[in-house]
Amino acid sequence: MFVPGPIVSSGATILHADLDSFYASVEQRDDPLLRGRPVIVGGGVVLAASYEAKAYGVRTAMGGGQARRLCPHAVVVPPRMSVYSAASDAVFDVFRDTTPVVEPLSVDEAFLDVGGLLRYRAPVEIAAKLRADVRERVGLPITVGIARTKFLAKVASQVAKPDGLLLVPPDRELEFLRPLPVRRLWGVGTVTADRLRTHGIETVADVAELDESMLASLVGGAMGHRLYALSHNRDRRRVQTTVRRRSVGAQRALGRGCHAAADIEVTIDATAVMLIDRIARRMRAAGNTGRTVVLRMRFDDFSRATRSRTLPEATSSTEPLLAAARGLVSVAAPLIAQRGLTLIGFSVANIDRSPPQLELPFGTSADPLALDAAVDRVRRRYGSAALTRAVLLHE
Ligand SMILES: [Mg+2]
Repeated sequence: MFVPGPIVSSGATILHADLDSFYASVEQRDDPLLRGRPVIVGGGVVLAASYEAKAYGVRTAMGGGQARRLCPHAVVVPPRMSVYSAASDAVFDVFRDTTPVVEPLSVDEAFLDVGGLLRYRAPVEIAAKLRADVRERVGLPITVGIARTKFLAKVASQVAKPDGLLLVPPDRELEFLRPLPVRRLWGVGTVTADRLRTHGIETVADVAELDESMLASLVGGAMGHRLYALSHNRDRRRVQTTVRRRSVGAQRALGRGCHAAADIEVTIDATAVMLIDRIARRMRAAGNTGRTVVLRMRFDDFSRATRSRTLPEATSSTEPLLAAARGLVSVAAPLIAQRGLTLIGFSVANIDRSPPQLELPFGTSADPLALDAAVDRVRRRYGSAALTRAVLLHE
């Protein structure tokens, strides 16, 4: 058993963040009666199982009949894909608020490289905050593994599940890796693991004793090559922000029936300030600027509408983006009053990577970008809550 010990984390800057039993956790989040009980999502094939159901041997992709035989008292619920998709978006918002270097692996997991943030915080602190943010903003448990390589970070998160955090210090990688069952190696499925077991190969240490041609003869060339590299702890892959984002956005649901009250204007404005602030910060962290601000709305009757406004120049400064956002909201006010708003989102499109144009200061000596940069610095150092806008204090 690998016992986390004295910490030498220099070089360990890759996080693998993975939601625990994603769909099942969303169901338990939304229905208190399901908490602490075995929950299976999907009646035909098991799409997800809560940890209480996994304890009975229920697994993802298992047939529903077999799952119910293993765990007859499980609660089986139908999937709600649109709810999971909204939760996934919200979790990725947290990821991208943590670092601009995010590589999605699926709807519920990603690699994050926090090497660029070391001046401000240690990776363990960043990971702990990410877990707290996901819990607070999305209401879901997430496990984070931290290591020097992607492979080790992913293994660490699998070992730390559920709701855990584990750092593999660079000077203890082999100690961590060698006793693990072969099944823990990324990409090794049941078939490969079974074939290796028939040859007495159970652990990563067992694999590491074989040469590559021997491994290839047991499990095939490609898998042999992979196993050989991983068992010797070789993994040079970098965290890659796969697609260049053409827009940066954030959204928030508002309670249903949120219209008649006079409070709604205040709520919408405070939400707009918070969302634009988050988007602008993320753009600055990634070195992006954008020209078009888009307002997305969903109404009581589930209909949707979009409004956009294009600025004369690309910017990542909060003030002009917020001014455009507020302009869009005021134009949409009659529509909102009539239909009732249940979700509001903004995005900034026409993203450009070139450095921001210097804007001429009109009638003020304050440089808005310098103010933004100062606010960003304080937040990186002391956390997002350290500075807030006065309008948000009512929340
Ligand atoms: Mg997961």
